[in-house]
Amino acid sequence: MCAVVPACGGARAYYEMTALNHQPVGEEMRTTLVGHARDCLAGAAVYEVRADRSRVRVDGELDRQPLHVLHAIHLMCDDERRGAEADLLVTTRSGGTRPVSVWREIDGVIAVEVGSAFQWPAAPAPSQLRLRYGTGALFEEAGARWDGISLLALDRALAVLSPAERALVANQPFVRARGDPAAPLAARHLSVGCDQKVRFFDRAFLGHRVQFAGTPHAPMPSATLALVHELGHALHKVPLIRASCRNAAIVSDYNRDVGAFNDLVGRHNRAANRGDRAAANTLSAAIAERQTRLEAAGRAVEASTKEVERLADSPGPVLEAYDDALAGERAPTTYGETNLAESFAESFCLFRADPAALRRVLPQVAAWFEAGGHLRAMEAK
Ligand SMILES: [Zn+2]
Repeated sequence: MCAVVPACGGARAYYEMTALNHQPVGEEMRTTLVGHARDCLAGAAVYEVRADRSRVRVDGELDRQPLHVLHAIHLMCDDERRGAEADLLVTTRSGGTRPVSVWREIDGVIAVEVGSAFQWPAAPAPSQLRLRYGTGALFEEAGARWDGISLLALDRALAVLSPAERALVANQPFVRARGDPAAPLAARHLSVGCDQKVRFFDRAFLGHRVQFAGTPHAPMPSATLALVHELGHALHKVPLIRASCRNAAIVSDYNRDVGAFNDLVGRHNRAANRGDRAAANTLSAAIAERQTRLEAAGRAVEASTKEVERLADSPGPVLEAYDDALAGERAPTTYGETNLAESFAESFCLFRADPAALRRVLPQVAAWFEAGGHLRAMEAK
């Protein structure tokens, strides 16, 4: 906790992924909210951001601001939120629920953008998702359901990807699951060898009533963020998964050839046992020729297995290139500070779901994604 900005070594621009829990407010709260806003602002400016991106200073008439604005200011007034952007669904008893983006700059200045009242659109059916995006099968596990909002989140998550990115994650199954209380995750991308899937847990919906993703003029369910994050993991793992798939094919061919070779040896032995020297000689020649090919195939299996191990033991080319683009900066969210892979997944998530947020927090990383840095890195040899 730090009140004075210059002493606040940790303050930096970031995106607040954590849902800020709050309740609907009514007019009777106005005086309290205005008083709290004045205390918290301590003279810092408040701007209303209009739909045309123009900013109008409004702190001179705080008491006349809509309750949505006052409540959003209240929610951002914690000192820990200096530098943050949060995308909140703010509910007032008279005005219903509005999507509100709030930015609290490091110097304390607050900007607020309020969207219109809205309703979540109807979700596409799983068959439409498969048709539209080439998605793999959708599974349900242990009573978890692909309900309207989880299908809408998946639809939005796939819609915000570029066609090239979608092609790279096509045919991937998605599983709605309850989640593991011991490992509280919103979603998880899992890959085992050549197989991969995304598990989407109940926890992804914790912030559904208080938070949204994207801009206040085109809000997406907050759970969309968890899915785009996991698709980010799927993308940085492309080189490893590709190498694993290649390796699985090479190993399977090799095993088939070993079977055929053993067959030949058996036939040769039986011919020799019954004294059929002509047949045994022909088979001997075939065995010798096959053995040379098999030895070469064995070396290819070894090299391809080593390549998989090398990629599995390293961050891989995409994370390495991302690390260069990050150039020592911190991750764009608190969770992204866990490690380089989470930092990438959070940056990718913002790049696709809320590009303006990434441009504000990590402009050089946003430029790297815009230039296709992540896609180029996976093709580099
Ligand atoms: Zn992650």
